[in-house]
Amino acid sequence: MFFGIIVVNKKKGSKHITTLYEGAFAKINLTLDVLDKRPDGYHDIQSVMQTISIRDDIEIDVDTGKPWTLICDKEGVPTDHRNLAWKAAEVFFEQTRRQTTGLEIRITKRIPMEAGMGGGSADAAAVLRALNRHYGEPLSIMALAELGSLVGSDVPFCVLCGTAMVEGRGERVRKLPDMPDCCFVVCKPDFSVSTPELYKKIDDSTIPHRPDHQKMESAILAGDLGKIAENIYNVFDPVVTQEHLELNYIKSIYNSYGSIAQQMTGSGSAVFAIVQDFEYAAVICNMLRENYPNVFIAKPV
Ligand code: ATP
Repeated sequence: MFFGIIVVNKKKGSKHITTLYEGAFAKINLTLDVLDKRPDGYHDIQSVMQTISIRDDIEIDVDTGKPWTLICDKEGVPTDHRNLAWKAAEVFFEQTRRQTTGLEIRITKRIPMEAGMGGGSADAAAVLRALNRHYGEPLSIMALAELGSLVGSDVPFCVLCGTAMVEGRGERVRKLPDMPDCCFVVCKPDFSVSTPELYKKIDDSTIPHRPDHQKMESAILAGDLGKIAENIYNVFDPVVTQEHLELNYIKSIYNSYGSIAQQMTGSGSAVFAIVQDFEYAAVICNMLRENYPNVFIAKPV
């Protein structure tokens, strides 16, 4: 998969600055199951994740000769070592023993935040891919994904992209065939959900229904969109929906206008629909835009 890295050399004064460009693509969880709590406090999960065409853009100036900086066009995104993109660059230079005289990372944000769409992880993964390519691929793509697990649970998947079965804390990623072509509509309501609180709620209750991963994998292997739609399930969805009934409103709009499956992604609060035709996706988008500014149409990547 090619995410469009372009290297541009610009002359700034007497210095040549090299700029790397990389796309950072969002993910959705077609399935998500929460398994046991691990000794390290994290939970094991099992999830079929899918990369979608909603993207942030990452630009990296290398060897700037100045202290590291990070600029993001969106307010509220940390612009220091707390940013996962920054952390990814630190981990890359530490582990590969490559060196730079200075870095500037610029992020153009389009992936909604606190949505369960892995925005920060996608940015981190894009930084890893861009730096690895620029420094002559010291790491294989699998080693790069493994490195990503030091940055965040969703980063290994975001390095590899496509359709994959993700297990453990997120560090075990098994690629699956690409899912069949379709449209996604994704709507991010105004509220956000605290992921640690959600895990606590799941720990304190019994999970009444879980996704059937065998059936989902067979559906993907068969390229059967109808069966994929039948097997979409996220254990967090009913827990969040119980407290935020507007998710039902969004799903009812999806359902009324040709969606074949609708579900919350990750720990929310974005909800996606699978729609076979772009025309239906456009109608849904128009309907929801009256109340929700953050509605997108996307394709599987
Ligand atoms: P996930 O699906 O992985 O749970 P999310 O959609 O819930 O992701 P993000 O939007 O990726 O969450 O980020 C959540 C928080 O992480 C933000 O509020 C922000 O403080 C911090 N953060 C760190 N790095 C980034 C980044 N590059 N982009 C956005 N947020 C970042």
